[in-house]
Formats: sequence, structure tokens, C-alpha cells
Amino acid sequence: MTLDPRVHLPPIELLKKLISIPSPYPHENPLAEWIGDYLKQFQFHVTYLEVKGRKNIVAKKGTGKALLLFGHLDTVPLQGVEDLNPHAPDDLRQINARASELRWESPPYEPSLRKGKLYGSGAIDMKAGLAAIIHAGTKLPEDYFQSTELILAFSVDEEFLDQGMAALLKSRTFEHAQGCICPEIIDTGELIDIPETPDIGTILLGRRGRIAIEVQLRGQAAHGATPSAGVNAIELAGQVVAHIKKSLAEGALALGSHPILPPASMTPLKIQGGTSSLSVPDRCTIEYDRHFVPPETPETVQEDLRRCLSEILTPNQFKISLAPRPTPYLMPYAISQEASIVNATLSVLKARDIPITIAGGNSVADENMLASPVYPPEIRHNIPTVDIGCKGGNFHKENEWVDLESFQDLASILKEICIKWAN
Ligand SMILES: [Zn+2]
Repeated sequence: MTLDPRVHLPPIELLKKLISIPSPYPHENPLAEWIGDYLKQFQFHVTYLEVKGRKNIVAKKGTGKALLLFGHLDTVPLQGVEDLNPHAPDDLRQINARASELRWESPPYEPSLRKGKLYGSGAIDMKAGLAAIIHAGTKLPEDYFQSTELILAFSVDEEFLDQGMAALLKSRTFEHAQGCICPEIIDTGELIDIPETPDIGTILLGRRGRIAIEVQLRGQAAHGATPSAGVNAIELAGQVVAHIKKSLAEGALALGSHPILPPASMTPLKIQGGTSSLSVPDRCTIEYDRHFVPPETPETVQEDLRRCLSEILTPNQFKISLAPRPTPYLMPYAISQEASIVNATLSVLKARDIPITIAGGNSVADENMLASPVYPPEIRHNIPTVDIGCKGGNFHKENEWVDLESFQDLASILKEICIKWAN
């Protein structure tokens, strides 16, 4: 790999470089290697922690109380060309040839500057954050590292199954970190109406948790010509979907609320059943998405649902369980506002006269695993984590962008927070 000259890249050049190295999962390695090589130039001790051949990065420098800056390397694959690998020249040519058909106004992996916005896949989610971390980490004065250990950690697979974060946590390589900043997209509940992330000043001190619940329905098979002789599991599924929707609307099936996190939510994601023979289908499965907030737990959520379905079904007609997932589900968290990382963040924002909003994240992220206290000991890290981000939009879709002025502020603010926290 050819590396840029041994100089600091200014934040915008750094961001452009990161956008120009595609990293849709599972193709993160070229980006991981470039970042690792860049950090080594600034005396970071860089290790790659591989999960199924994909490289997480942990870069450490200094000694003393430990601060973690965390980001994810992967971006979501472009819809319509998910199977193409942008690191294969033929595939990349195809992606670029189809850019306008995919509704991109410029090639997705070539940073393009228009009216103060930098466009490109991953621009706001979260290459701007990665560039801010790398800028902050490499611009701190050398004496900073005499009393502080700065750990930069970058994961793979955040946008899919969080396999990178799960591996990082199992390695316990940064379990001693006393605080964490993650410059991730700030997806507060209000984003439903505004397709942009807020400017710097809105910080996330928690996120909702999320599970997928399977409702397995059992009817009674019969010849399809005599449907009344059986119980059609697909019709049971229809009743279940309608009953849950009505119970949610009337509040009979309660959804949790929390002082800073967006309210809990529930919606069906998948329905699977039926038979190719002329028989009344006797089984059907519905998968529900359930975002939840403390004090709700996966157990209380399933118990409430069981009670709700008992109103229309007999016990042998249904079974409720968590949908299988190879990595742990993402549990909710809300950190203490007294945490030193919160204090450091707030005081830097106040010193710059930036209006502050404290919020909770709508969606789940690797930070759930890092910060939630409710994991079993082999995973649990319980590191107070603050999400701070800049202004951008169109994340997870075409023409993703980041506001350059806002990004530059983020890069310098992140460095100031590191200094404030250490003092
Ligand atoms: Zn993200």
C-alpha cells in the first residue's frame, strides 16, 4: 500500500481520503490498513484484532488514566449493488457506471464537494467521525501522553451484526478505559421528520435497546378443500398482527418510556408460513422488532406480549422467543450525567457558546454493547460513552453528505474534549 507523505493531513483531506477508500461491510480491510499505517506514523501502538479475517483496529498511545475514542469502519452497502466489492476494479467500474441509476449525483466512493457539503458513501455515518478521531488523536501535544493513555478503537460489522465490537469486548483490550467518546450520527427521535442530523451541541447519553421476537403460531392441518376442519395458522397470524396493533394503540400492550431515551416501539418485520400442498397450513411465524428502554428488559417485554396474545389464543397455539442472533442483542443504556466524560464534553461546548441538547439515540449501535451495564461479565464493559456528531444527512441512502464547517468544528472540539477530560 502506498501511504501519503509523512505529514498531518488537514481534517478535510483526511476525511476525503477515508471516503475514497470504500468500506461497505464486509470489505473494511483496506480502510483498516490505511488508518493503522497512518496512526503508526504518530507513535501509536497499532494492533489488528481480526474477526473472520476482518480487521478491527486498536491503537494505543501514552500512559495514565485511559480515554477511549471509538468509531466503526464499515458503511452500509449501496442498495442495488450489495453484492459488488468496490475493491475489485471491475465491480467498482460497474458501481460507478450505475451511479445515476442508483440515484447518486456523483460516484459514491469519490468525495465530491458541493455548496459546503461533502458527498460520499459513509460521509456522515461515520467517516466524518473517524476523521475527527484520527485528527484529534494525532494532533494532541506529546506531553498529553505522559499522564493519559489514549485508545483509538475502530470496529468492523457495526452496520450488520456487531461482530467487530463483540470481538473487541471479548479481547478486553480496553476494559480499563474510564470514558468514551463516539462521534457517530446523532439520531434522536426528532429525526423522523428531519432527514438531517443536528449540528454540534446535541449529544447522546444513551440509546434504546433492541430485540427481535419470534411469535410461532400453531394451527391444525386439514385438507384444503375443507378449511373449517382445521385451524389456519396464517389466519391466526392475521389476528395476531391486528390484535397487537390495536393493543398498542389503546395502551393495553404498554410501551416503555424513559426521561432521555425515545419511547419504545414495536413493529412486525417478517411473516413466514404456508404450504405448497393443498393443506390448511398449521404453522406460521411472525418476527417483531421491539425497541425497548429501561426498566423494560427482554424478559418483561416477552412476558407482556405473552399476556396480550393469551387474550385471543390458547397456550398451545403460540410460542414466544427471541429470534436467534450470532452476537448478543444490543441492550439499552443511559449513562450518568455526572460522568467525567459528560462534564468534559459539556464544558467544552459551553466555552464555545454552543447551545446544548441532551438526548438519547433512537437506533442501536456498537455503543450499546460498550456502555450498557446489563451484559453478562464476559461482555460487560459499562464504559460511560458520549455520542457527539456533526451536521449531515442522507445516511443509509444515496447522496449521503456531511457539512464541512460542522465537521471541522467537530474535529477541533473532539481534541479539546480529550484535553479537558485529562485535566
Ligand atoms: Zn453509524
